[in-house]
Amino acid sequence: MTAALTSATTPPTVRRVRHETRIRPLEVTAVDRLTPHMIRIALRGDDMADFISASPDDHLKVLIDGPEGERQMRDYTPRRFSCEDQTLLLDFAVHDAGPATQWALDARPGDQLNIGGPRGSRIIEGDIRNWLLIGDETALPAIGRRIEEASADTQFTTVIAIPGPDDRQTFDTAAKVNSVWIYRPVADAAKAEPFMKVIEDVTVTDDTFVWIAAEGLVTRGLRQHFLDTRQHPPNWLKAAGYWVKGQADTTESFE
Ligand SMILES: Cc1cc2nc3c(=O)[nH]c(=O)nc-3n(C[C@H](O)[C@H](O)[C@H](O)COP(=O)(O)OP(=O)(O)OC[C@H]3O[C@@H](n4cnc5c(N)ncnc54)[C@H](O)[C@@H]3O)c2cc1C
Repeated sequence: MTAALTSATTPPTVRRVRHETRIRPLEVTAVDRLTPHMIRIALRGDDMADFISASPDDHLKVLIDGPEGERQMRDYTPRRFSCEDQTLLLDFAVHDAGPATQWALDARPGDQLNIGGPRGSRIIEGDIRNWLLIGDETALPAIGRRIEEASADTQFTTVIAIPGPDDRQTFDTAAKVNSVWIYRPVADAAKAEPFMKVIEDVTVTDDTFVWIAAEGLVTRGLRQHFLDTRQHPPNWLKAAGYWVKGQADTTESFE
């Protein structure tokens, strides 16, 4: 169901900001199994003093060694950070382990991790009171950060696919949150059907900002559903593929 926009509703805009990119060496200070399928790693390093992450869905690169000792990079969301305390939290979803997931599974306090970026932020700006956040476990860090950074007059509906009830997370926020959890095994994370069954029953007004992040084809299907089937205004939607089934992330540079 959609509702007409009032003439007073100004569409949101996305402002791009670039940041200086450099590698920051960090040390693991704590490893916490937040839920069965999420590992939270706390990091610290003097170089965090001037770390910038201007948008909750920013990403940085973690730099790790691949099986042959070659450098590999993977995208992760700065879940929480403090320049004052020089700290950073990263949440790693547990799935068929590539090098980044394996690094997180093996991580212990005292281990080193180099990060690069974020090289920029795409900041969604405007008077947005209603959000629909849709994603899988890899999107949970960005969803959680956005909800925790929101003011009390903001209303969120979240539709999040996770393996089971123990993987649910709660967020420390003044905003209102209506959570819909979808349970499906990690092996089904690249299927759109579990989302589609639920999404069709979710009411979305035209002044709701729809944010989507999941596996590439799932993201594409959901984006099409909102833009084509529901005729949701395109400048009230942002969608990103966070990983591709059967394909390792082979980013070679973060500059
Ligand atoms: C902007 C952005 C922000 C992101 N933030 C986070 C974050 O904060 N936390 C997080 O956990 N992930 C996040 N991701 C996703 C993460 O970068 C990928 O899941 C990445 O592929 C993991 O690297 P890897 O080395 O473990 O696996 P890779 O070597 O890249 O891939 C190995 C195999 O695992 C499969 N695979 C990758 N991800 C998944 C998955 N989620 N479920 C099932 N199979 C998978 C691949 O298809 C491939 O077959 C983000 C991605 C983007 C683009």
